[in-house]
Amino acid sequence: MATFKAIRIDKAEKGQTVGLVDFDEKELMDGDVTVAVEWSTVNYKDGLAVTGKAPVVRRFPMIPGIDFVGTVESSANPEWKAGNRVILNGWGTGETHLGAYAEKSRVKGDWLVPLPAGMTGREAMAIGTAGYTAMLAVMALEDRGVTPDRGPVVVTGAAGGVGSVAIALLAKLGFHVVASTGRPQEGDYLKGLGAKELIDRAELAAPGKPLGKERWAGGVDSVGSTTLANILATTKYGGAVAACGLAGGMDLPTSVAPFILRGVSLMGIDSVMCPQARRRQAWKRLASDLDRSKLGTIASEIGLADVIATGQAILDGKIRGRTVVKIRPDVQN
Ligand code: NDP
Repeated sequence: MATFKAIRIDKAEKGQTVGLVDFDEKELMDGDVTVAVEWSTVNYKDGLAVTGKAPVVRRFPMIPGIDFVGTVESSANPEWKAGNRVILNGWGTGETHLGAYAEKSRVKGDWLVPLPAGMTGREAMAIGTAGYTAMLAVMALEDRGVTPDRGPVVVTGAAGGVGSVAIALLAKLGFHVVASTGRPQEGDYLKGLGAKELIDRAELAAPGKPLGKERWAGGVDSVGSTTLANILATTKYGGAVAACGLAGGMDLPTSVAPFILRGVSLMGIDSVMCPQARRRQAWKRLASDLDRSKLGTIASEIGLADVIATGQAILDGKIRGRTVVKIRPDVQN
């Protein structure tokens, strides 16, 4: 029996069991490309999956993990051949399709994007789904004409994965970045990424008025709920806010005032089913517009065996930036 190391989630009488196992290759799901997985990451959604805190996993057994970088082992898809290095983000991996926390994965070739030239696999996963989502958010703001001369941009959940990469991207593009965080002790880290101002996230968390003083031309929000409502209420005339996440709650207690009185746009960001052309564009932009030297401070590294504990830690708000998972101990970059 051919096996490989994987994190496996099984349904239990109450909840689920999760552990590092030898996974039988025969249990791999259908797909036209088989990939030797080298790097993955721990995203917020992965934390929800490994802990079972939210119903992210919709098939059992499941290998969690929503993103990876690896090398194609074999392919029946004309676009890919053995030896190609590829990135996968989303498409239901780790939710409905066996995912990234495994030395091997079989997926649809249509889900893959090429690892950009000059970018290492480790760098791509230091960016990961959170960073690629941050890029999609920045592109959405650009689509709405938010440029540095229009005013500051606010980034919420600043010390998290999406927030950290969003700050680095926006700073490099010349924006005055206001970072909203609940961790003032991460002030030096956030300024190192390029934030010009820090605000306490409590300032944005309390229920606010339908409209407030105009503070920023745009925002990248990972928090949702009253935080997103307050950002919308304080966005300048004609500005735009990209909504990526729900770290503070799924609700959105807002009014139509920012939209109908200030022409503010709320841009929804989805990384999972994002069409290929847009995701390829995002990875191209990440290769050119992100100062990759910042990834050294953004990302820390763990092994496959540490994924479960880190999944709990990200839900507890204890992870700064991004966590890269070295799937194969012998991989170099
Ligand atoms: P992280 O856990 O790394 O970051 C979230 C950050 O949000 C934390 O670091 C913290 O920042 C802040 N935060 C946490 N809890 C609260 C709270 N109760 N109230 C206010 N702020 C809070 O997660 P990611 O960056 O990986 O993901 C962020 C969000 O984006 C998640 O909800 C995730 O599900 C979502 N997401 C969505 C994607 C999409 O396709 N739309 C793709 C990827 C992620 P600080 O300590 O600085 O305050």
